[in-house]
Amino acid sequence: MATAPDPRTPRDTASTADTAATAPTASTAFNSALDVIRAVEPRVADAIGAEITDQRASLKLIASENYASPAVLLAMGNWLSDKYAEGTVGRRFYAGCRNVDTVEALAAEHARELFGADHAYVQPHSGIDANLVAFWSVLAQRVESPALERAGARHVNDLTEQDWEELRRALGDQRMLGMSLDAGGHLTHGFRPNISGKMFAQRSYGTDPATGLLDYDAVRAAAREFRPLILIAGYSAYPRKVNFRIMREIADEVGATLMVDMAHFAGLVAGKVFTGDFDPVPHANIVTTTTHKSLRGPRGGMVLCDEALAEHVDRGCPMVLGGPLPHVMAAKAVALAEARQPSFRTYARQVVDNAAALAEGLMRRGARLVTGGTDNHLALVDVTGYGLTGRQAEDALLDAGIVTNRNAVPRDPNGAWYTSGIRIGTPALTTRGLGTAEMDEVADLIHTTLTAAEPGTTAAGAPSRARYLLEPKIAEAVADRAADLLSGHPLYPGIDLA
Ligand SMILES: *Cc1c(COP(=O)(O)O)cnc(C)c1O
Repeated sequence: MATAPDPRTPRDTASTADTAATAPTASTAFNSALDVIRAVEPRVADAIGAEITDQRASLKLIASENYASPAVLLAMGNWLSDKYAEGTVGRRFYAGCRNVDTVEALAAEHARELFGADHAYVQPHSGIDANLVAFWSVLAQRVESPALERAGARHVNDLTEQDWEELRRALGDQRMLGMSLDAGGHLTHGFRPNISGKMFAQRSYGTDPATGLLDYDAVRAAAREFRPLILIAGYSAYPRKVNFRIMREIADEVGATLMVDMAHFAGLVAGKVFTGDFDPVPHANIVTTTTHKSLRGPRGGMVLCDEALAEHVDRGCPMVLGGPLPHVMAAKAVALAEARQPSFRTYARQVVDNAAALAEGLMRRGARLVTGGTDNHLALVDVTGYGLTGRQAEDALLDAGIVTNRNAVPRDPNGAWYTSGIRIGTPALTTRGLGTAEMDEVADLIHTTLTAAEPGTTAAGAPSRARYLLEPKIAEAVADRAADLLSGHPLYPGIDLA
């Protein structure tokens, strides 16, 4: 007997290209929504409409961006947003949270199943917030809880003024070891402009100057010497896999908690491209991520952890987070359901194959890549080989319709502002349906533009690290080719705005 499909089972809509079948419905939904908005503030409706036009027209190589599905986008625009829901599922500080409980529990369940995690906390509003939750959870577990126990107190409010003052100082006197910024680490891993650098004493580990690869022996040596409370792995501009089994061994050896920030590569973990030693979840004590980068969900964050940290992580709100965003948790549930479909694995594999093809295409044409290639979703082009700074390269590519971002390379001679690199990533173009053959064309567009661009001079005639020269004819020709490439792969197919 044939059974009707279970309407509660998530459909296989992992790629926006796959949504062609539901596109007429989505088109109607977005048009109706824009009509409603237009009646109140037409300029907002216009800006939303202009955004899809802009996104459709740009060759997006920003490694941290993607295109969420219509189902994910629509899950965010509704009355779930109206609820206050401090607390956790079934234990709220506000009444009437039945439906928020449903979506939060679903998002957490999908996350646990997808990543094989003991516990998932889906409330963080962003990647930075997820990291803050993680830092304070580890501090609560390893500094606050033992202090309470020593004092025979059950709650911080039960401590004497003196014990509390001592605990407060101890919380502010801990150490963190993370990847250096110019090796591809993230500002939230203990750097001074971010609160993590003000909270923790920080040391960095870098990459091998000869190969550009992460040097585990150097990480081990730094950990032995510095004895951090938290060892952080994870990156936003390192083009290689990280062996998390080794990182955990190092953490265990020095008594550190291993935290992995997989904000950039969560989609590759979800899609089972990074498995075994390269999957952080079985190795780390705590894992943080964004949900909007390679994972292709709504803009937000998430924490996964082992049982020992779960009770502390669940206190993220109100410890460091404002009230949860129920509508975004709903969208996380939808995105995570999508990521559990077989087509997401195909997508993740294609992201990596595309990055490899793009890197290969660039190197074959003579470009210099940090570490000589990639085994994840991104590559870092050292543009000094073209006689340019990162700033000049970024602007020249933008003139040619190619959106990238400048990024420091290890030991960057041009510093963090002008930089010597361009970071390029394939999650977005892969969602759009581009494959390896098209990546070779993209490589040619980048190489052609950077070869034609020349460094400019200041008004006084001195060499400039910002100004550049690019013949408009060349920029236009490349932009035309980029537009051709994109026209074969419509973004949000079928969604037609009135
Ligand atoms: C993007 C990123 C973050 C920050 O995410 P937001 O959502 O912008 O706060 C944190 N860590 C890493 C490694 C990232 O790549």
